[in-house]
Amino acid sequence: MPTYVYKCSDCNHLFEAVHSYKDRLDECPSCKSIGKISKQFNTPIQIVNHNTGVKNKAGTVVNREIRKYKEQIKEYNKNMKKENNKK
Ligand SMILES: [Zn+2]
Repeated sequence: MPTYVYKCSDCNHLFEAVHSYKDRLDECPSCKSIGKISKQFNTPIQIVNHNTGVKNKAGTVVNREIRKYKEQIKEYNKNMKKENNKK
């Protein structure tokens, strides 16, 4: 199952969750807010912009996440090719 990165807009908690594509997470595991978390797959850079006070730390997280996203995209493309070959 794929790993997703979420960020809570309430407490800025950044966390990973493993679940299937169809599932959705609603609750922040840190502050328990409902409906405040959003997937960070397409816009990991936002983490840096929103947390100017912890720029270096956030940057490290972002770099790590970007590396992970690239791996995921590679995996995704591989799987897509496999899917296409089946047809
Ligand atoms: Zn939260």
